[in-house]
Amino acid sequence: MNNKISTVSAFLITFLGALVILGWYLDIPALIQVHSAFTPMQFNTALGFLVTGLAIICWVQQRLRYLLILSVFLLALSILTGAQYLLGVNFGIDELFVEHSITVGTSSPGRMAPNTALGFMIVGLAGCYHVKGQATSNIKSIILQSLGLLLLSVAALAGFGYLFEIELAYGWAGLTNMAAHTSLGFILASIALISLSLQIHTQVFDGHAINITGLLFLATLLIDILSPEGLEIIVAYPSLILCALLFRPQNISFALALFAIALLTLGYYAVDRVFDPDGSALRIRVLTVFLILANAFIIEQLKKQKAQLQESKTSLELAVESSEIGLWDWDLTSNQVKLSPIWCSMLGYKPHELEHAFATWESLVHPDDLQKTLRILHQYINEEPGNHYEAQFRMRHKNGSWRIIYSRGSVVETDKFGKPLRLVGMHLDTTERANLENELALLKSAVDHSQSLVLVLSSSIENPTILYASHNAQNITGIGSSTLINESPIVFLNQQERIKNKKELAKIRRAMINHQSITSQVWLKRVDTDEVYRLKFNLYPVLSESGETLHYSLIGQDTTKLYQLEQLILEERERFQSAMVHSPIGMALVSIDARWLDVNQSVCEILGYSKAELLQTDFIQLTHPDDLELDLEQVQKMLDRKITTYEMEKRYFHKDGHIVWALLSVSLVWNTDGTPKYFISQIQDISERKLQQERLKRYTEELEQSNRDLDDFAYIASHDLKEPLRGINNHALMLKRGYQDKLDETANHKLDRMVKLSQKLEKLISDLLYFSRIGREKESIKRIPISAIIAKQIDLYQNYISEQNAQVSVANNLPTLLCNELKMSVIFRNLILNGIKYNDNTHKVVTISFDKQFTFQGKILKNVFHIQDNGIGIDPEFHHDIFRMFKRLNSEKAYGSGTGAGLAFVKKIIEQSGGEIWVESTPDKGSTFHFYIKEVDHEAR
Ligand code: ADP
Repeated sequence: MNNKISTVSAFLITFLGALVILGWYLDIPALIQVHSAFTPMQFNTALGFLVTGLAIICWVQQRLRYLLILSVFLLALSILTGAQYLLGVNFGIDELFVEHSITVGTSSPGRMAPNTALGFMIVGLAGCYHVKGQATSNIKSIILQSLGLLLLSVAALAGFGYLFEIELAYGWAGLTNMAAHTSLGFILASIALISLSLQIHTQVFDGHAINITGLLFLATLLIDILSPEGLEIIVAYPSLILCALLFRPQNISFALALFAIALLTLGYYAVDRVFDPDGSALRIRVLTVFLILANAFIIEQLKKQKAQLQESKTSLELAVESSEIGLWDWDLTSNQVKLSPIWCSMLGYKPHELEHAFATWESLVHPDDLQKTLRILHQYINEEPGNHYEAQFRMRHKNGSWRIIYSRGSVVETDKFGKPLRLVGMHLDTTERANLENELALLKSAVDHSQSLVLVLSSSIENPTILYASHNAQNITGIGSSTLINESPIVFLNQQERIKNKKELAKIRRAMINHQSITSQVWLKRVDTDEVYRLKFNLYPVLSESGETLHYSLIGQDTTKLYQLEQLILEERERFQSAMVHSPIGMALVSIDARWLDVNQSVCEILGYSKAELLQTDFIQLTHPDDLELDLEQVQKMLDRKITTYEMEKRYFHKDGHIVWALLSVSLVWNTDGTPKYFISQIQDISERKLQQERLKRYTEELEQSNRDLDDFAYIASHDLKEPLRGINNHALMLKRGYQDKLDETANHKLDRMVKLSQKLEKLISDLLYFSRIGREKESIKRIPISAIIAKQIDLYQNYISEQNAQVSVANNLPTLLCNELKMSVIFRNLILNGIKYNDNTHKVVTISFDKQFTFQGKILKNVFHIQDNGIGIDPEFHHDIFRMFKRLNSEKAYGSGTGAGLAFVKKIIEQSGGEIWVESTPDKGSTFHFYIKEVDHEAR
């Protein structure tokens, strides 16, 4: 707006200057003179206006170098002209370009009026000052405005002079007059100057300040002009007003106003009496005095306000600076953003390091936050410019880190349609706060999720209250954390508990009085369940920097379970120790480096040393060298966690030198940090057992040897006896054949008997031989169905079975076994035939059955065969004897012949296989033989 005014004014001025120049060159008086009676505009004046117009255009376009050149030209022109007047000389500049034909109201032809020169001087000064002047924008603005107003005064004075026909107003000291259109040109120039000066300042207020006072100033002048004698004020007052505006001292405006009034009064008394017969000049002067005073008053008020404003602005700036608020000012049309130094330093930059544009902000915002923030921003700009915009996002610091920025701003300028043109706002670095908040949230969550009860108590010792209770207060105390706030911590204890914990409470109170921390434990009762719990806690004062207690913090744990565990451990330890001391078994704690750490009396007795002696030595020294390697190997395995315990029989050296056999059981106790602590060894004296074992082993060996000898003897004897026996038999038969007729009946009978006996003896010896052979020979073993073996035997003896009117029934669940067929045949043949043989029943029945599992006398046996008959039975007295070699219970006459060796074979075969045979029988009712053989165990089907 201001630029437009200046530009239009400048063009008009240039046009005016050009027109007059044209007039001079083309000799057109109408262009030079407004009226033939009026003073013409001199050529130099027209040139001055041409330059003035161009200078203002350069000013508007910020072509400062040209402005300076043109301004210097104007200054030179005005100073030279002024010098000509003052010194009464002629530099020849007046008619340098054209000869002046029109000289109305001119002191020397072509010379511009002194007030015109003053006008150009003001313009030149203003231009030079604008380019070169070093001042704050406010002062600059004031100076330029004042110069503009001064120019306006000079021009307006001349203008009004023409209007009211007061020559003194446009023609000074009888010198050349200012032309009427020159005054117009200067009025335009002053307007341009004032509007340009208004652009410089930053505070709109200042513009108004000068404008108001300026207008009043002008009004005063105009009134004064109306009274032609009051012209002295014209010179005095503008300079006074300038002083009043420029200088700080308070009330200077009034002082200067008084000075002006004094001048006015003096002027009146000097000339007024003659020229003011009707007193109108006096009235006007009185009015002028009022206006001057009003003007001074307004200036003072404005100065005061300005000072205040300056003060608040300074404090605002200080506040902004100290609060580290970065400011931004975004011109939406150009997308330029003014960034304050703090805005830049917040991200580690100097203001000149950043381009002050919206793109800078965009490039620094975290990519993840950019779209979201832009959305908020656009939404604000497009939808609700009335309110303010607010967002939080991350921005990249120069050092690469991300800062969390809070931004807030609002529209300060809109176009006439309400479309935002300018946005102003601030940035606040909230990284630390956000970090703190995060940290706090983490801490809170840690506290809430921990097992500990956290309370913050007020610092009052007499009546402390709970300021904060962690979330888990409910779990531990039974009282919710929100209920606890503002309560006294005594709420946890009822009367009874207060008495119970009296001592502890007194201790706590003492610690609080002394501002000391204390660890304590109290027994409390849950409010909701009446359950008793044990709270162990630390209470400590939280101090301010000056050492004052701000509040107390209490961190506690429910240690009930821990306490119970401790008690249990104590009890266990006691029990262990008493067990150790009193145990009949030797018990010892042995260090990792093999030393005895503790031993009970039994160990001392076993090894023959006193406890003190043992604790001086280690187990390695007392271990028999042959057992040491194995022992240490096991120890190492246990240390390597390959085994947890081990047991071994080993030999120790007794103090008196003899060997002690011991059964050693060792386990290892670990420390909580995973390192081995010590071994627990149980030592049992097994010397006696060992001795017995040795003895038993020896006996068994001897027995086995004697059995082998016996077998050998029986084998050799029966083998060797067979030959002579067969000889005796043959000889007896030969004797009978050769001498049967020659011998009498008794002798024949005796001979027959001899043959029979020798045959029986042979049979006996054969049986004996067979018996002693059982187990000696290698036998073939294969898988055979037992039913097949039985079937074969039945088939072999079918005739006999039929003759005896007997029946053999076989169960159909008999297994297939890995066995020697011949031996199995011997077993079944003997048992089946015995059942038929020793049987008086007209219908003889032998039943063979099988049980995969069979219980006998409380023992669970597997794969048991049963051979049952309905025969004569066996007296229990002989249930064992019948299995002896050659043992027979019945006479040959009644139940036929036999050697009594069958069951002995059966028993030997079965027992050699690891099995067993036994009989259950009741005389006259029948017998049942039961047996199992070991080998069949895993082969059973
Ligand atoms: P042997 O049949 O040659 O006499 P054993 O050794 O087979 O010899 O039998 C020994 C004795 O046991 C028999 O003489 C008989 O008295 C008795 N005995 C064997 N089996 C039975 C049975 N099933 N019932 C009754 N007595 C039996």
